[in-house]
Amino acid sequence: MSSSRHFVLSFFGPVVAGGVFCGFILLLWSWLERHHISPLVTMLVGGLVVGMITRRFVRNCVAVSCPFCGWKSYEIPGGGNRFACKVCGNDH
Ligand SMILES: [Zn+2]
Repeated sequence: MSSSRHFVLSFFGPVVAGGVFCGFILLLWSWLERHHISPLVTMLVGGLVVGMITRRFVRNCVAVSCPFCGWKSYEIPGGGNRFACKVCGNDH
């Protein structure tokens, strides 16, 4: 995967995952109300959590190919779309 594609995925991945979760809540709306759970609160909090988990997953588990050696590199935490190679140690 290229770094630009990774950037798009890290941006839209959580949005899409949150949207899927919201759709799921819409389907379960009456069930949740019957069980005295606020669907709106569940949707907001759950959507946020799902988005954060997806962002974390993309950061830690989706590799970008290293431009120096071609191996897997992963996003540097807080590095703003920068990646560190696991093999040659270069960041790019
Ligand atoms: Zn490398």
